[in-house]
Amino acid sequence: MQPDEENASHTLPRAIQRRTKRGLENRFWAKVERRGPTDCWPWRGSIKKNGSGQIGGEPEGNILRGKKLYAHRVAYELARGLIPNDLHVLHRCDNPACTNPAHLFLGTHQDNMADMIAKRRHAHGDRQTRRKLDQHRVRAIRWLALHDPAPHHVLGREFSVSASNVDFIVRRLTWKLTA
Ligand SMILES: [Zn+2]
Repeated sequence: MQPDEENASHTLPRAIQRRTKRGLENRFWAKVERRGPTDCWPWRGSIKKNGSGQIGGEPEGNILRGKKLYAHRVAYELARGLIPNDLHVLHRCDNPACTNPAHLFLGTHQDNMADMIAKRRHAHGDRQTRRKLDQHRVRAIRWLALHDPAPHHVLGREFSVSASNVDFIVRRLTWKLTA
């Protein structure tokens, strides 16, 4: 076997895939605080700036693509099977670090955006009300700027701030958050 082939997932013998998948599974559930079946199960591993849990995909990267994997996506795949291409794993709860498979469902990018906006409105009340920025709103702006192709002035309107304010936040010229 060529070294290249050894690294490619589709060429790995099934027995090896099973073994490495089990490795990820063990490592994964060791970092989940499993509570009651309907409770949120907080991720106790590393957390991304957007609030989602993450886990290193290596050396089992042949099972799930990418070096860092979203914890809730791994939870979904371990519990329910492969996530179809281009679909997002969304939370029924308002907790991005939750890894309870019962709280996760599949949706499109569109669903993801609608879901985020609905939750944000719920969390922040009437969006017409001019509110001061706080670190949660700043994080949400950065998250949306990364994931939503909407221009900054549209994003700014959603948060009642100017497009240049959004620019500064996204470029981290303002709001240097520690975590
Ligand atoms: Zn939850």
